Amino acid sequence: MTEINWIASIIASTGFSCTRCGTCCSSGDGDANLVMVTPDEIRKIMGASGQSWDEIAEPYPEKIPREGGRVFTIGWCLVRRNGICGFYEDGACRIYEHRPWICRTYPFSLDGDTVLTHPCPGLGCTITRKDARAIARDLIKRKNFERVDEEKIRRVLQENPVPPEKFVVIDNEGIKVPQKKPHKSTV
Ligand code: SF4
Repeated sequence: MTEINWIASIIASTGFSCTRCGTCCSSGDGDANLVMVTPDEIRKIMGASGQSWDEIAEPYPEKIPREGGRVFTIGWCLVRRNGICGFYEDGACRIYEHRPWICRTYPFSLDGDTVLTHPCPGLGCTITRKDARAIARDLIKRKNFERVDEEKIRRVLQENPVPPEKFVVIDNEGIKVPQKKPHKSTV
């Protein structure tokens, strides 16, 4: 069975239909609804929303300490207000056509060859074979996208020393000093 077919068959047997409850965008258990975004995704949202980088994204809230007082985080996540995604308005996503991969594939993700499900009231609802295949296709695209992202980040870490006495964000383009500090982490 091809990869897309086995993923689609798992999604079809799990069942899913978006009930438009907005739970995944508007509430989370601590940082459970954090949406990680790459520089490319941030720029796509900048183009669609007219908002600046810092209005869209903030450093991922996990500080990684290194010797010599160095501290950094890996990547960015969408800005939230009181735990609600900054793009969730009037019960809908303001950037729906440009939403990141994590949002496109929720409540599913891939961990190697395993299809994971995440809390969602729509799980268990009837899904067509066509829709299951569409989600499976997006999951495979997301996996490839994330693989490239991780490889680039690994290279940045190998080739660039983390500067001392500054909190920095390492993403797939390099080392950046963020305008904003990360919010208090529960990660
Ligand atoms: S970007 Fe859109 S789909 Fe993703 S969490 Fe925010 S409101 Fe929800």
